[in-house]
Amino acid sequence: MGTPAGSPAGSTADAVGVLALQGAFHAHELILRRLGVLARQVRTPDDLAAVTALVMPGGESTTMSRLLGTSGLFAPLTERIAAGLPVFGTCAGMILLATEVLDGRPDQRSFAALPITVRRNGFGRQIDSFETDLAVSGLDRPFHGVFIRAPRIVEVAPEVEVLAQYDGEAVLVRHGRVMAASFHPELGGDTRVHATFLRTFLDPIPQEN
Ligand code: GLN
Repeated sequence: MGTPAGSPAGSTADAVGVLALQGAFHAHELILRRLGVLARQVRTPDDLAAVTALVMPGGESTTMSRLLGTSGLFAPLTERIAAGLPVFGTCAGMILLATEVLDGRPDQRSFAALPITVRRNGFGRQIDSFETDLAVSGLDRPFHGVFIRAPRIVEVAPEVEVLAQYDGEAVLVRHGRVMAASFHPELGGDTRVHATFLRTFLDPIPQEN
């Protein structure tokens, strides 16, 4: 499998999925395409079967949780993640991956694939949306992070790798094949955080621009 740097993938087997039930999925598709990757919207179990990695976007985690149930995606996606599907959750997507969610709705479900505790809307009302430059492991210059009613990572298991921090707290983390950001790396046209995800999990390495 794999995608020659800078050119579209040749078959659906190379596709990176973007969960497209709700939220900010379109900007993720654009970033992935700029990296030369075939991006495919995932709304059904058949869509999921055709992808080799998945981005879970920002949006509203309670709504996404409900739609994951009604679409029939929750069970097959749980299985794929357990079987090693590379997943990158951003903002609401991160909430869906966390093992523990504080201030969630009682009926809100998560895949519990990443051993972190997150608090929904955890940055409080005063700074519920803000932007800041982040030092990210492996990147030679800062990445501009946009936080929108972002979840706050309040606990990180020791085995989780912290790739970026804001004010001493983890905001970009990875554990095995699961990566998550509390900010929105798809906004602003900078492909480097997505490239980090793809570089970790897909072969060959997509080209950065
Ligand atoms: N506050 C949202 C939630 O709980 C997440 C915000 C976002 O994804 N931008 O799902």
